[in-house]
Amino acid sequence: MSRHTTFKIGGPADIFVCPEDIDDLRNILRYSESHKIDHFIIGGGSKLLVGDKGIRGFVISLSAPAFNGIEFDGETVVAGCGIKVHELIKEASEKDLGGLEFLAGIPGTLGGALTMNAGWPSKAIGDLVEEITALKGLEKPRLDKSGLKFSYRSSNLEGLVLVSAKLKLEKKAKDKIEAEIKKNLEKKRKTQELGYPSVGSIFLNPSGNSPAWEVIDKCGLRGKQEGGAAVSEKHANFIINRANATASDVKKLIDEIQKIVFKEHQIMLKLETKLIGEF
Ligand SMILES: Cc1cc2nc3c(=O)[nH]c(=O)nc-3n(C[C@H](O)[C@H](O)[C@H](O)COP(=O)(O)OP(=O)(O)OC[C@H]3O[C@@H](n4cnc5c(N)ncnc54)[C@H](O)[C@@H]3O)c2cc1C
Repeated sequence: MSRHTTFKIGGPADIFVCPEDIDDLRNILRYSESHKIDHFIIGGGSKLLVGDKGIRGFVISLSAPAFNGIEFDGETVVAGCGIKVHELIKEASEKDLGGLEFLAGIPGTLGGALTMNAGWPSKAIGDLVEEITALKGLEKPRLDKSGLKFSYRSSNLEGLVLVSAKLKLEKKAKDKIEAEIKKNLEKKRKTQELGYPSVGSIFLNPSGNSPAWEVIDKCGLRGKQEGGAAVSEKHANFIINRANATASDVKKLIDEIQKIVFKEHQIMLKLETKLIGEF
């Protein structure tokens, strides 16, 4: 799985499968259900820490063209959940459609962004969603706004296989969109650690407190190392894979940060990162 995660960490999956289309996907889900084999849907792997012993069962990637389609209709777009977010932003800007600029520089797929309610700094993708088509077991429900719940880096979409989503965009000239994207990327380059493999922010910002990076920084943990993993010198809420880090190096660092922050500030930092598989 180290080849499928931005952390470049993780042992093997039993079975890594890329269904060709929705029927193929249904067959895999049917097989996994009837044989009681677990399955996990992966997007761009940019929010995952996969254990060193890997993942049992199926890891399903919606990377085939059937899950990457885009259709524009006025100011709305229906896109396959396997599409990379940066491709969606680019295709929309070609049509003079904006509203996605705040997602620039966030790696991963539309499916991952929806599940995580990805965003930055105060906007999030959930605000744009009109409708989602998903598989729940072998059914294919269409979820409209009233059944969808998005909150800070979270949604009620866990457990579903997201196939496509309808998003509301806005008319905007391509050069304006590009200028805004450039500005956002520059800001990110200045503040985020992009030189090493990571998953972005490790912890959620604690509510009603200073952001997680500041609390970690106050504890003097910037640069702290564990094996090949380290707290970034540039952004203290990023853990980086400095040199062939293992999942257990990262996990030890996570545990240590939580322990020290709790001891010094009585704040229990919660993970934004998803821990998957066997450690
Ligand atoms: C350098 C860097 C910067 C980042 N900056 C930001 C930022 O500014 N803001 C932000 O919000 N995030 C940021 N992230 C985190 C990450 O990019 C986002 O959370 C992203 O939206 C995850 O998408 P993914 O496709 O990689 O999902 P994955 O990591 O593959 O999966 C995340 C979750 O989504 C589920 N999932 C994925 N696709 C589907 C699907 N089709 N159906 C059902 N479930 C699915 C997975 O099962 C898993 O539970 C950053 C990451 C990095 C490495």
